[in-house]
Amino acid sequence: MDAQASYLAELVQHGLLIPTGVDGLYGRSGVFEDVVDRFNTVITGVGGKDGAEVMRFPPAINRQHFEESEYLKSFPQLAGTVHSFMGNERDHMALLDTLEKKGDWTTGQKATQVVMTPAACYPIYPTMAKRGPLPKEGRLVDVYSYCFRHEPSLDPARMQLFRMREYVRLGTPDQVMEFRQLWLDRGQKLMASLKVPLKIDVANDPFFGRAGKMLAVNQRDQNLKFELLIPITSEEKPTACLSFNYHQDHFGHLFGIQQQDGSWAHTACVGFGLERIALALFRKHGLDVKQWPAAVREKLWP
Ligand code: AMP
Ligand code: ZN
Repeated sequence: MDAQASYLAELVQHGLLIPTGVDGLYGRSGVFEDVVDRFNTVITGVGGKDGAEVMRFPPAINRQHFEESEYLKSFPQLAGTVHSFMGNERDHMALLDTLEKKGDWTTGQKATQVVMTPAACYPIYPTMAKRGPLPKEGRLVDVYSYCFRHEPSLDPARMQLFRMREYVRLGTPDQVMEFRQLWLDRGQKLMASLKVPLKIDVANDPFFGRAGKMLAVNQRDQNLKFELLIPITSEEKPTACLSFNYHQDHFGHLFGIQQQDGSWAHTACVGFGLERIALALFRKHGLDVKQWPAAVREKLWP
């Protein structure tokens, strides 16, 4: 068994993750949830005084907004759509018949208006566009959501449904770059205080296909995304646990979010992957939270 599969087995054996039979889809124990909730509270302790507007959305977005976001250009392989049965009684009989014969009953399902949220900040952009031009000081939003990505894996740090807490900044290029730098500093300080080894690097997102290679080069060359990496199942290949994104005017342009002077708004976000952070803490400090170092316990359970 490789390091990822054996850490997963260990987590399951200790009851921290509850298997469902699908790779990347797990239940969480009370202890695991407590760590996630406590860490989420610690994030609020750092960013809460900035006056962000709190918004909570369910883990799905409007399909039209999803289409407008151009997510399908970059990551078609990760997207998850919600389909439902929309037929008549005859179709229903056919469905049950196919099911009984162990055939593929899903072929008759039709796409609904609902798409799984790929990143917690996605519902923010159309919402902000509707409000009209940004105020002079821009906007700051606090979001938290389960996100879906179709990347089944035995790596416990690569789930299909996981939580992302984000702060999202909308404004001028200067405003959003200052925000990103602030969180690069805060993120490192915060994770260092939890006594985990970390490093910052430019990101390497899995953009799809040949056109995707260009997008990946562009992302790296322009320093559009940094990640805070912490070892979870490998020292040599640590896992991205926080990300710091500068979207330029990508979302401003796609959704029509204007600045006061009529130009498109720039946006940036900092994303915390809650499950990955919990897994990094369990990895470094052990599976029994009572044995965690006093400094870490004081931070999470003050
Ligand atoms: P990203 O939008 O890819 O930068 O994701 C934001 C954060 O979510 C990352 O820094 C990770 O901590 C977390 N994340 C991304 N993909 C996954 C996944 N498949 N499983 C668990 N956490 C993830
Ligand atoms: Zn985001």
